[in-house]
Amino acid sequence: MGVDFYACNNCGDTFPDCGDFTGCECGTRWCCDECAETEGYRHEEDGYTPPGSEWEQETSCNFCRNEDFEDYDLLTFAIGKLGLSREDLIKLYTENNQ
Ligand SMILES: [Zn+2]
Ligand SMILES: [Zn+2]
Repeated sequence: MGVDFYACNNCGDTFPDCGDFTGCECGTRWCCDECAETEGYRHEEDGYTPPGSEWEQETSCNFCRNEDFEDYDLLTFAIGKLGLSREDLIKLYTENNQ
């Protein structure tokens, strides 16, 4: 069995899955409690059922409460709103970095 490494969702630090870390039941993981709390991680005394989910979690965070979203999802949304394709964006990015 190998050791998997995860990146903290908040600060980007990596940590092994066998070590100390804070994780929400939705699958979001952080290197420490401080990072987790920054992103709204909390214990749910009465349980929390995310929208569209069938099971109740004992923890929740900004992501499973739909109060924050992954950069990738926001980006996909933004380029769609701007009427750009991913290729257009790459072109603009390249031009801007020359
Ligand atoms: Zn962190
Ligand atoms: Zn969560």
